[in-house]
Formats: sequence, structure tokens, C-alpha cells
Amino acid sequence: MKKKILYLYSDTGGGHRASAQALINAVDQLHKGKVVQEMIDVFAVCSGFLNIFAKLYAPVIRYYPKLWGQLFYWLDDKKKLERLEQMSRPFILKELIKLIKKKKPDLIISVHPMVNHLTASAIKESGLTIPFIVVITDPVTLHRAWITPKVDLTIVATPEAKENALAYGMLEEKIKVIGMPIDPKFALSAKKKALMRKKNKLKPKLFTILLMGGGEGAGKMNNIIRELDRQDISAQLIVIAGRNEKLVQKLEKEAEKIKLPLRVYGFTDQVNELMAESDMIITKAGPGAIAESLAMGLPIIITSWLPGQEEGNVEFVVRENVGRVTKDPEKVGQLVKELMHSSLFDELKDNIARVSRPNAALEIAEQILAYL
Ligand code: UDP
Repeated sequence: MKKKILYLYSDTGGGHRASAQALINAVDQLHKGKVVQEMIDVFAVCSGFLNIFAKLYAPVIRYYPKLWGQLFYWLDDKKKLERLEQMSRPFILKELIKLIKKKKPDLIISVHPMVNHLTASAIKESGLTIPFIVVITDPVTLHRAWITPKVDLTIVATPEAKENALAYGMLEEKIKVIGMPIDPKFALSAKKKALMRKKNKLKPKLFTILLMGGGEGAGKMNNIIRELDRQDISAQLIVIAGRNEKLVQKLEKEAEKIKLPLRVYGFTDQVNELMAESDMIITKAGPGAIAESLAMGLPIIITSWLPGQEEGNVEFVVRENVGRVTKDPEKVGQLVKELMHSSLFDELKDNIARVSRPNAALEIAEQILAYL
């Protein structure tokens, strides 16, 4: 009988789902057809009305990112997390145990911080012996909720993340530093950018900038576009507004008013293709977006980030000198001009080649398969 892997995630942002899908694709690539893999949105399936909290993520990070930061720090506390777990037990734990008993997986993998403690308890209380791996999808700054020593293995992206995990009480022998689980499709293509642009009706030789705000289209994209246009940047723009439908409509109207050539996408499964057509990315400091941009060799300008959760990502970009950071739309334009045709751009690209880990998902998949 085929072995079964269950991936636990929650649709907060785009990163957790994308990470689970990346691991599924990587395992498939190594072991085509030999393993059954399934993704479960834990809060949607097991928590009933509590799923409202997961649903609040998008509006909160779009309109009140500071509030998200306050919540992040407030909950980064052992006692509060224990209390939260106790409170959510009656709503989630019973359903999670039922699910595990029904699915009887050979391995459970979590890519979300808020389910790990509950899952460790659910596996124990199900009476089944199932290995449990946590793949951490924040590359540097970790929330305490990610960490439970009751897992079999925790995989992190960087040595800093490992240090943070150890500080939260994780056992050294249960941590492996590998990289961010990004889809194997994010790898430098041998195809020429100019050819890809031509195919997609972009100007083949014009400098191309990708603008992205995570899965939810967060960050003040409209202001950045206006400023790039005002500064007569000699470039064309691809914008991914994610699930932010209103923003898509707004930007489509904006595209008719400005000189800067602009192509707008809503949520797309072709982020890798659009990155391959681009020379540079302007983005929120989402862990997925950063790791994918690095794998595709794109210098990064960070223009927004979630307090707490994504601050470490911003520090990483600065420390490794793979991009620049500013929240000021006017400065974004200046930075683009300063970088686009200078030796600084090549310097950033060399640093990117040094730190990017395009094969991390495949390496993580090898670890996963060792548990089956
Ligand atoms: N993404 C996507 N389609 C879109 C927008 C985003 O597939 O239209 C993916 C993107 O490639 C990345 C993830 O969603 O893998 C966003 O994750 P990130 O960690 O950057 O930010 P989050 O949305 O989780 O805040």
C-alpha cells in the first residue's frame, strides 16, 4: 500500500499553502506516484467558528499591520500560548484526533506555527504512532508557537532561525538547517528573459520590475506605481495584487492613466514565470517572496513588512546585501534608478547567487522520505 503524508497548513497569507504545495511537488519529483499526499487547512476543517481568526489575517495585515505586530509580540509568551492551547482544545483537538484516526497517515508535516502543539497532543491522544515534522516557513525571526520539542524533526532555513529555536527550548538533535521550502519550479530558467517577455507581450529589451504584496496584495502598491511613473523610470512593470480583488480593479484603471507600461495580475499560479521575465522585484518582506526572488536571481527592494514576524527578513536582506529597504515610495523610485544600470546591481546579483537555496525543498523532501 502507498504511504500517506498529511500536510497541515492554514490559509493565512499565501506562504503556508505555497510551502506545503512546494514540499508535495518536491516529494513527487523524487518519488513520483509512490506516496499519497494531502493538504489539510486545519482551522477550516477542524475548528468550526474559530476559523474566523484565520479569516481575519487578510484584512488585518492589509489595513492594520501594526495590530498584527502587537498580537505577534503579545502571544510570544510561553504562558499565554499554553492558555490559548487550553482554550482552543475543546474546539480543535477532538476534531484533529478524529481526522488523524480517519486518515491514518504515515507521517504528518506542519508548515504553520499555530497548529504544532495541538498536533503533537492529537497524535499522542490518537494512540497511533506517527512521526511529526515541522517545517518552519519564517527564515529568521521565529514565533515561539513554532517550537515544540515533542516533534521528531524541525527544519529551519538559516543558522539564525536555529539559534532562535534553541532559545525557545528546541532540542539541538531535532533541528536541521536546510532552507526555505520553495517550489522547485523557482529555479533560474535557461530561457532568455527577452524571449519570455516577447511571448507575454512585454517589450523584450526593457528593464522589467515585478511588484508584489504577498498572497493578499498588501503594501501601498498604488503609491509606488504612481511614484515610479512620476520619476519617468525607464522600465515596464508587472504587478501581482494577489487575492486583493479591489486592488486589481484599481490598478487596471491606473494602468490606463499612466505612461509606465503596466500589466496587472490577481492571484496567479505563475509567479515563477513572472519572476523569470523580471530583472528586479519590489515586495513586502514575505518569506516566500524573498526566498523565491533569491532563487530566481532578482535583487529585492523591500517596501513593507509585518512588524515582528517579518522584521528578521528585512534584516536578512540588508545584512546579506541582496537588496534595499525603504517604506517611502519616492525613495523606491530613486533606488530603482540608482541600481538598475550600475555595478551595484551586479554586486547584489553576486550576493544572491551566494545565499539563494533553490533546491531546499528537494533537500527537505529527502529528509521527509527518510521517515516513510
Ligand atoms: N503567491 C502566488 N500567487 C500570487 C501571489 C502570491 O502563488 O498571486 C505566492 C508567492 O509565490 C509566495 C506566497 O504566495 O509563495 C506568498 O508568501 P509570502 O511568504 O511572500 O507572503 P504571505 O502572503 O504569506 O504574507
